[in-house]
Amino acid sequence: MVPIIAGLVSPLTIKFFLSISNILTFRPANMREAEQRYGKLYRDYSWEHADKFLVTADLSMFHSLLDRVTVNRDIIIPLYIVMQTLHREGLIDEITEFKGCYNTRPVQGTNRPSVHAYGLGCDFDNNEFSPEFVKVWKDQGWTWGGDWKKYDPMHFSYAWED
Ligand SMILES: [Zn+2]
Repeated sequence: MVPIIAGLVSPLTIKFFLSISNILTFRPANMREAEQRYGKLYRDYSWEHADKFLVTADLSMFHSLLDRVTVNRDIIIPLYIVMQTLHREGLIDEITEFKGCYNTRPVQGTNRPSVHAYGLGCDFDNNEFSPEFVKVWKDQGWTWGGDWKKYDPMHFSYAWED
């Protein structure tokens, strides 16, 4: 009898999933790239067709606070992988508050739209996260507001620096 090795995935299958994830994941490097892809925001920070690039995901299998996460569909795969990894590595309980990802608003003190207006950033609480927690995000290509000149440790984004 041929033994069944659980979780064995062929190189071809891995290649296929990587190619799909490249198609489904997009990281705008600046606001111009975001505008080209998602359209322009109105002056009052409302959208005509935000539904075209947003998804609401249930990630409560990783943390009960994450049962309705409204986020840009271009970054749902890197977000999913981060939450799955944090859960697997026992780091998920560092999240004690979830303040959301999509929020149509300007960058504080400016009239430029925040990455949150595009659903490209997520806010948690103001607690200090462990270096291990932050590393999980960075390994998936996210940037952490705790590294920014304008220190913002509750914030992770998959886009340019606000
Ligand atoms: Zn933020």
